[in-house]
Amino acid sequence: MMGEGSINDISTRSSMAVIGAGLSGLRAANILSSHGHQVSVFEKTSRPGGRLGAWEWEGTIVDAGAQYFTARDALFRRHVTSWIQEGVVSRWGAILAAVDAPGIFRKLDNSLDRYVGVPGMGRVAEHLSKHVDIRFECHVDNIAHHDDKFHLTHANGNQAGAFDALIIATPASQAISLLPADSELVPAASGVRMVPCWAVMAVFHKPFSLPFDGLFFNGTMYQFKAKMTGSVKVVV
Ligand SMILES: Cc1cc2nc3c(=O)[nH]c(=O)nc-3n(C[C@H](O)[C@H](O)[C@H](O)COP(=O)(O)OP(=O)(O)OC[C@H]3O[C@@H](n4cnc5c(N)ncnc54)[C@H](O)[C@@H]3O)c2cc1C
Repeated sequence: MMGEGSINDISTRSSMAVIGAGLSGLRAANILSSHGHQVSVFEKTSRPGGRLGAWEWEGTIVDAGAQYFTARDALFRRHVTSWIQEGVVSRWGAILAAVDAPGIFRKLDNSLDRYVGVPGMGRVAEHLSKHVDIRFECHVDNIAHHDDKFHLTHANGNQAGAFDALIIATPASQAISLLPADSELVPAASGVRMVPCWAVMAVFHKPFSLPFDGLFFNGTMYQFKAKMTGSVKVVV
């Protein structure tokens, strides 16, 4: 989410703030840095990735958020190719199935390329963070725009800096409280419906055999069940 300035102004601007070190914020920071802008990313937690989160339990890494991604855009596909060469991601050659009715499995066509981080999705965020200035544990609480700059304030009251341009790369619902009440972006952010979900992760001490790696439950409250690196995760 771009701040009040027009996107066209970016070509002449140099100091930029990005709020949120999830996939969107990190990717934006990388692109802007590669165009010579000075970019600072502010992240309220202590690590990058946001909803690309992972848990490590007794040596097993289990993705708690995104489990795989696809690459449909040509430019993004080029990046993914370089990530594969660098060992950051690999193709996930999963056997996928769907349950349309209780007990009835249907094998799915897996012609769509799906990718996973190696060893977990967090690796993608780590990779994108490499050349980016990220201020962790910096919860941006307030944005003011004056003197042609965006002034960011930390939740502890400290000033976090003044910038020519700003990208808010947080979930829309969290962006609303940061935007000025009269911002034209407020209606757009307010219109985004967020659907909560629970992610259940189970790690089994002994491997067991299933005829599929990922399972879609159609028409139920369960959305996706994935078996990766010997663990089973159910997303509800
Ligand atoms: C359980 C689950 C499973 C998923 N599975 C898939 C999947 O299989 N494939 C897929 O493609 N996608 C999947 N997704 C969606 C995917 O994870 C998200 O779309 C993507 O990671 C969102 O990235 P983002 O950068 O837009 O936002 P986020 O990852 O939410 O990043 C926002 C960041 O902003 C930070 N932040 C927020 N407010 C502030 C503030 N005021 N100051 C500083 N920092 C702040 C947050 O801490 C966070 O790090 C899944 C999501 C979940 C939850």
